[in-house]
Amino acid sequence: MGNELLTGDTLDTNGRFLTRAVESLGLAPRFKHVAGDREEDVILVLRDAASRADVVFVTGGLGPTEDDLTRKSVARAFDRRLIFHPELLPPIRDYFARAGQEMPPDNERQALLPSGAKPIPNPLGTAPGFILEDGRTSVIVLPGVPREMRGMYEASVHSYLASRFRGGETWEVRTVRTTGVPESKVNELLGNLLDLSRNPQVGLTASDLGVDLRIRARAGSRDAASGMIDALVEDARARLGPAVYSEAGEGLEQVAGRLLAERRKTLAIAESCTGGLVGARVTSVPGSSAYFERGIVSYSNESKEALLGVPRSILAAHGAVSPETARAMAEGIGRSAGTDFGLSVTGIAGPTGGTAGKPVGLVYIALAVRDGETRVEEHRFPGDREMVRARSAQAALDLLRRHLTGC
Ligand code: AMP
Ligand code: MG
Repeated sequence: MGNELLTGDTLDTNGRFLTRAVESLGLAPRFKHVAGDREEDVILVLRDAASRADVVFVTGGLGPTEDDLTRKSVARAFDRRLIFHPELLPPIRDYFARAGQEMPPDNERQALLPSGAKPIPNPLGTAPGFILEDGRTSVIVLPGVPREMRGMYEASVHSYLASRFRGGETWEVRTVRTTGVPESKVNELLGNLLDLSRNPQVGLTASDLGVDLRIRARAGSRDAASGMIDALVEDARARLGPAVYSEAGEGLEQVAGRLLAERRKTLAIAESCTGGLVGARVTSVPGSSAYFERGIVSYSNESKEALLGVPRSILAAHGAVSPETARAMAEGIGRSAGTDFGLSVTGIAGPTGGTAGKPVGLVYIALAVRDGETRVEEHRFPGDREMVRARSAQAALDLLRRHLTGC
């Protein structure tokens, strides 16, 4: 709920979180509505949603001010009165007291709930949420602030939904991630595994980083559902080969980072067209200082020469975007950093700078291995500047991952 969602100034991450969170309960989302800050519209949307679903989530609009409409609208949509709950005030007062403040009088509004609603405590903020059961529908109302919404879902709502809807069956969900194989090819390789009537069910999601398999299994127990997913993952792995990099929904930076840490190997990175994206991903992992030594963003030819030791003759003969330069960048950074691996990326991200011989999207990635051979790969990535850069960073981390796993 809220104008900021209508305009897109705020993106609906709450919807995404809740969709994933209820998946393990076997609840499949059917509709999503966005309403601005207008009471009539909110009521319309609430009645419509409740007429078609067993569970309706509402987030946002629980603040203390007049334009926070959710409490009032839910009460009107389901013909309830707003009842003052004095027992909800002390936690709100405490929240202010912890910040050394008095509760403003407006916050008293947050202790109003539609009659029949059960409050949901909010340990991270002021606005309590609530659950209103109307006929067969549970209307679950949570604050808009994502951190508060998540905390309350995990602490209170999930167990409520589990006891109401699980009905003896358990769902397990797992995400298997692949990279380097287009969606149509993944589709072809998985074939009958993608039949929607199957259990486990497999859904594909493609992004710049690759294709994810979302696997959902239904069974009488967690272990049984988990076992069914294990068997399916084994089958999928056999079909997809080394394109699979995680069975637990992790990013390549986590997978490659763990491999480096386990083998006690170190890494340095030299980036041109990705401008530090690879280094940013590697260092997003807590503990990456155990294996990451340095990253250099080297854009100009001069800096490739001065900082990475790429010979001027190579740059002159082959250009900055060439297998020879990628190799010299990787070997140069590995040598000067004294690491086991030197990883480099150089390419044409566009939209300008392409030529017939070197089009936009042409990218070279190299991995220099101490006391070993340097591997150089050529890629031709489709898409705009952002896509080329994202795909280049992914391919660089994947080259490292494949080397570390011996494929
Ligand atoms: P509200 O409870 O409507 O006052 O929302 C509080 C804050 O939470 C707003 O400033 C929004 O930025 C954020 N917010 C509200 N709804 C969502 C949503 N569906 N997804 C992500 N953030 C949201
Ligand atoms: Mg709002």
